[in-house]
Amino acid sequence: MHELSITQHILQYALEESEKRGASRVLAIHLKMGPLSGLVPECIQMYLDLLSEGTIAEGAAVKAQVLPLKVRCRDCHAESEITRHSLACPVCQSLRLQLLSGREFYIDGLEVEIHGNQSASSGNGME
Ligand SMILES: [Zn+2]
Repeated sequence: MHELSITQHILQYALEESEKRGASRVLAIHLKMGPLSGLVPECIQMYLDLLSEGTIAEGAAVKAQVLPLKVRCRDCHAESEITRHSLACPVCQSLRLQLLSGREFYIDGLEVEIHGNQSASSGNGME
């Protein structure tokens, strides 16, 4: 369980970004994570609620998107995106797959309020 330290980084990033943009509130934080990152969005939200108390990020929503798993088949060499529910090559049904991604995690963007105007923009990769 490393959501706590990750949430501290997310919050710090959100606050720094908001300050740069002159935002008065953080409305939402968009995250992208691989299915094998081991992170639970609900946990991040819970920690964020605790850590952001008294900051402009208080009440911000965590919006996490789980990315597909990218694999390369060792038999037919096709590169495919699969889900955790069907761990076989979609081309030849082989189970001999090499994992290309799935553990990544990054902040995809922030939604902030700037003097009453809502603004969304993309963030930077983080890990
Ligand atoms: Zn295959």
